[in-house]
Amino acid sequence: MLNIRYYTDYPTCNLSCSYCIAGHGDKYPKPQSQWDEQRFLAIVDNIGKLPYDINIRFGVGGEFFVSRTLVDAARRLSHRPNIVSVNLITNLTLSLKQYEKLFSGYRMDKVAVVTSFHPTEIKDHEAWFDKAVKFHSRLDFAVCLVAFPICYNPPLSESSKGVASKSSSNPISASTAGSTIRGTIPMKRAGFCDVRCIPAMISNSR
Ligand code: SF4
Repeated sequence: MLNIRYYTDYPTCNLSCSYCIAGHGDKYPKPQSQWDEQRFLAIVDNIGKLPYDINIRFGVGGEFFVSRTLVDAARRLSHRPNIVSVNLITNLTLSLKQYEKLFSGYRMDKVAVVTSFHPTEIKDHEAWFDKAVKFHSRLDFAVCLVAFPICYNPPLSESSKGVASKSSSNPISASTAGSTIRGTIPMKRAGFCDVRCIPAMISNSR
């Protein structure tokens, strides 16, 4: 079994996080993109022909699901016999309807999704987490919590203290600062996710 982590420098995003190291915000300059669509397609094509069982995880310098080229290439790859799993990343900002359309024709039994949660960019946290729960009910699904801005620490409200996973028997995976945390992800009904819940997730890790 070969595990491939393929970062391709696709340079477009639908968010502009201030801390974006890919240069979509205002803090870091946007580098000249070296992304070459034809080269990307050729590499994906070659990966689909390798004589190994493969798990592949894509990484991009933007949002994967705004690119037809990326979405279509991963769809084709999911049908290759040598591909065991295709792991895709998204900021989960499209609507469920849009995602459903984009995933149309995929071998969904091979698909895993990692999402990055950007608390300062997502306006409606509750809606975002509802979407995450729906993904989690259908897919191998994990959440990355950005560790910056570190000062993001909203006060706990009374109504948010009784947080609970909607799927405690099948916990969502979460990670921050590069370390993977597995556990029940706290779902707040008060409209935000409290980053202080991360230690609770760590204590639930397996
Ligand atoms: S979602 Fe990711 S790639 Fe897009 S602007 Fe934010 S940090 Fe950058």
